[in-house]
Amino acid sequence: MTTLNFNDTKTAFAHKSNNSLIRDYQIFRLINQSWLVKFGTNTASKLMNLGIKTPIAIGMRPTIYATFCGGDTLEDATKKINNLYEFGVQAILDYGVEGKEEEEDFNRTENAIKQAILFAKNYDAVGIVCSKFTGLIPFSILEKMHANEPLSSEENFILEKSKKRIYGIAQLAFDNDVSLFVDAEESWIQQPLDDLTFDLMATFNKQKPIIYNTVQLYRKDRLEFFKTTAEKAKNAGFIYAAKLVRGAYMEKEEVRARKLNYENPIQTSKENTDKDYNLALKFAIENIEHIAICVATHNEESTLLATQLMQTNQLKSNHPHIHFSQLYGMSDNITFNLAKSGYNSSKYMPYGPVKDVIPYLIRRAQENTSVSGQMGRELKLLKDEVRRRKLFVL
Ligand SMILES: Cc1cc2nc3c(=O)[nH]c(=O)nc-3n(C[C@H](O)[C@H](O)[C@H](O)COP(=O)(O)OP(=O)(O)OC[C@H]3O[C@@H](n4cnc5c(N)ncnc54)[C@H](O)[C@@H]3O)c2cc1C
Repeated sequence: MTTLNFNDTKTAFAHKSNNSLIRDYQIFRLINQSWLVKFGTNTASKLMNLGIKTPIAIGMRPTIYATFCGGDTLEDATKKINNLYEFGVQAILDYGVEGKEEEEDFNRTENAIKQAILFAKNYDAVGIVCSKFTGLIPFSILEKMHANEPLSSEENFILEKSKKRIYGIAQLAFDNDVSLFVDAEESWIQQPLDDLTFDLMATFNKQKPIIYNTVQLYRKDRLEFFKTTAEKAKNAGFIYAAKLVRGAYMEKEEVRARKLNYENPIQTSKENTDKDYNLALKFAIENIEHIAICVATHNEESTLLATQLMQTNQLKSNHPHIHFSQLYGMSDNITFNLAKSGYNSSKYMPYGPVKDVIPYLIRRAQENTSVSGQMGRELKLLKDEVRRRKLFVL
């Protein structure tokens, strides 16, 4: 086993040509400017609200879309997928369209996920397809279910239809031996998502992990939830599979809790989030016979900890119940160095028309400005590699 070195930029960026390295370096230099990101994202959001998407899409396509997305369609993404796989990194396909509420949109999302599953079938470069249940069930219904409010007969009808849709997707994933990730979303709709996913696991995870829920350790209650749900699954005789994340909706959670005057479900400090994330890793790896995890993080300490825990527990680096994943366009130093050392390593790759992935791209720009700290690291790594290759950049 090779020793992990997350500063090895030669391995991290070996998949990038000089041109794409320079493009990404320039992009990260731009989005490091917080004033520019603030101005750009405010303008983009305003134009989006007015239904004006074309100029934003034109600006984003050769820039942050190229850096963070696979392409408009699965076929367009193939080149990037194959490029990752040449270096032992798999792709997790994420149909990036968000925030849709109409029946027609739900059908479109269902078809796109099914198409991705069939695309992944027998294609070693893709082992997992990801889904957001808010793309398949109306948010308002999930909100009511979470709050234990009664549904009208029309809502019940829509819910049954949505459940059928989701079961159809899960069945297709199972039949074709492709794993399906279910993303975690806002805490005020999470209970029905957890319940639904648990039922799917009970049906499809008897032999191996096919359906994965997502556990957000930035929530105060999730470590306990993770442990008790894993125990329930073990007693019921199936594998509890979970993507472990810190969580992406911190600001939204805080704003809603303050507005509606309830206790903010988010941890009171980053240290507490980190502590619970690492404890969840430890619990999972010590019980890996009954649990499967995706270590979905850009945090180097947590990633290293996971690899150390694997060694302590004498697990092979390519143990089928442990995967590592980072977003496409971020933390290549983690992904590619893990892959080089033989770990199951993948990139979360969103794809879809530029106009539809604008909200995703706005989030990537925001989290990569200089305030978050992450950007500094990303930019430094790109800069180191530009220097190592002796490239000239203005
Ligand atoms: C493959 C993949 C899949 C993902 N899927 C999902 C998903 O389904 N649902 C979802 O919500 N997110 C998802 N995420 C995003 C993830 O939740 C994190 O927001 C993101 O990865 C940043 O956290 P980090 O672990 O990489 O590391 P870090 O950069 O170390 O941590 C940053 C995170 O710490 C937490 N944090 C920061 N400050 C504080 C504070 N003051 N108090 C408490 N907590 C704090 C926040 O969650 C913040 O995002 C996914 C990420 C990856 C890589």
